[in-house]
Amino acid sequence: MYRTHTCGELRQQHVGVAVTLAGWVQTVRKFGSITFVDLRDRYGITQLLFGEELNRQLTEDPPGREFVLQVIGTVTERTNKNPNIPTGDIEIKVDSFKTLNRSVTPPFTIQDDTDGGDDLRMKYRYLDLRRNAVKKNLELRYAVGRAARNYLHEQQFMDIETPFLIKSTPEGARDFVVPSRMNQGQFYALPQSPQTFKQLLMVSGYDRYYQIVKCFRDEDLRADRQPEFTQIDCEMSFVEQEDILNMFEGMIKHIFKAVKNIDYTEKVERMTWEQAMWNYGNDKPDIRFGMKLLNLKSAFTRSERINSQLEAVLDEGNASLISGAGFGVFDNAETVLAIAVPGCSEYTRKQTDELTEWVKRPQIGMQGLVFIKYNTDGSLKSSVDKFYNEEKLKAIATAAGAVPGDLILILAGREERTRKAISELRLEMGRRLGLRKDNEFKLLWVLDFPLFEYAEEENRWVARHHPFTSPKPSDISVMINNSPVIENPEKYLEHPYSNIKANAYDMVLNGNEIGGGSIRIFQRELQEKMFAALGMSQEEALHKFGFLLGAFEYGAPPHGGIAFGFDRLCAILGGSESIRDFIAFPKNNSGRDVMLDAPSAIDDQQLEELSIALKVESR
Ligand code: ASP
Repeated sequence: MYRTHTCGELRQQHVGVAVTLAGWVQTVRKFGSITFVDLRDRYGITQLLFGEELNRQLTEDPPGREFVLQVIGTVTERTNKNPNIPTGDIEIKVDSFKTLNRSVTPPFTIQDDTDGGDDLRMKYRYLDLRRNAVKKNLELRYAVGRAARNYLHEQQFMDIETPFLIKSTPEGARDFVVPSRMNQGQFYALPQSPQTFKQLLMVSGYDRYYQIVKCFRDEDLRADRQPEFTQIDCEMSFVEQEDILNMFEGMIKHIFKAVKNIDYTEKVERMTWEQAMWNYGNDKPDIRFGMKLLNLKSAFTRSERINSQLEAVLDEGNASLISGAGFGVFDNAETVLAIAVPGCSEYTRKQTDELTEWVKRPQIGMQGLVFIKYNTDGSLKSSVDKFYNEEKLKAIATAAGAVPGDLILILAGREERTRKAISELRLEMGRRLGLRKDNEFKLLWVLDFPLFEYAEEENRWVARHHPFTSPKPSDISVMINNSPVIENPEKYLEHPYSNIKANAYDMVLNGNEIGGGSIRIFQRELQEKMFAALGMSQEEALHKFGFLLGAFEYGAPPHGGIAFGFDRLCAILGGSESIRDFIAFPKNNSGRDVMLDAPSAIDDQQLEELSIALKVESR
């Protein structure tokens, strides 16, 4: 038997017990003729005491860091207890030991605060995984997965596997492809998600499906994306949006409780996509803090026309706050947006200059920043005093919801960029003011996304979610009765399609989209209409999705679903910004596995078997 106990389980009550332990050497400390070794395994660390009698053997064969040792000994009470570790009351008085395997000196220290840089740790990921910090993340990941499975099992969901070697599933990214040897010249695509399969399972009558599954998307890797990532993928039949929202709100709350012992009892907040864009400048707002946008001027006009629910419709009132003062920056801008930052009116010149530089960074891309200080004595001072008197400044400040002591920040420019920039600025100020706390969790449903997005380069519509998402029932007729052709690209916003809302929803946690889904189209005609709206010919639609259109003719039930980004969910629950920390073997930002050195060239013989000739020389 290699071991009787683990390195994490022995306590005071075991004193006197004869034990065998096996694990890795964390540290060796020699004091004269006695030696202390900390032995580590997945469960913890136990101190070993090698007495004088073992000195000779130790000198002949000294254990080094990361050696694998087996020791036989007796649990004894420590004179010098260590309250910082669970086994700190005891140590093992070693009677005999055996080196099970040796280790070369590891390239970095296997400790919480390691001296290893990112690249080195990725190259030796198997050593990095020995570190407590990484292990804790993987344990959390396992706990999240188990909680999700338990909940879904209780709710009668069935875990059904779907294939990886498939035909393209459009989720808005490029496919990874795999050449087929048996079908020369042909390729499989790796699934961007199991979307069409889970819909087919609904047609087959498996009315509650889930899978914790790998998805593959060949995207340029923006920060913190992985070419292969994991989703908790779910689908249900005979449901409406409300059923899905309730079911998966339940799942996330269950995960919160199981993993973090958080009772998230309140109802998850909801807002429409338009409200999110209007009030926060993006579709995944962090609602742990306020600082809502003041729309002084905006080209986000379709909200005005079509969304009667939107409480903050840009009115003449807001526009008149800034117009007529002769301030060209505002007068010539498409959009002017402001936020009131609490308690920052006393920012120094240096601080406001720094903020101005911040918004001018290429990632934010603004030309400048206007600010108004609403001083605690009620007076106002701004960078645009030349154009606006105190009364005007006060009116703007008040409209932005500011109170004395606040700093009002204003950005002006093109609609999309400005909205994005102020949203980033809001998050940044929230972060600087400590309003985005790791241990506070705030969920949000964002609803009623636009069904289509306009793709300028191709002058056509693309599906915002994916082509299987149904329009809101009230908008189906708009889709059926109007041609998708965009005659005037300049005015695409006036095309009826730009107003069609989708039966789609995203779940947002602390400013991150953690899940998204939709109620699906389940009738062949409407699905065909959708493909046509996206500019697909009938032949192309049949060629790509004939199987789905065919299945819809055999009694497809109404259905809908959602998928959660498992890696991201784990990262947020673990209080980390990086999903990589929660993946055992992640890729780097160039999509490489630096440990395996993949991707890499393949043999000429393999190419030959596949009948593939390369255009570039592979290295
Ligand atoms: N397949 C979708 C995605 O990966 C999720 C869904 O609609 O269920 O985003």
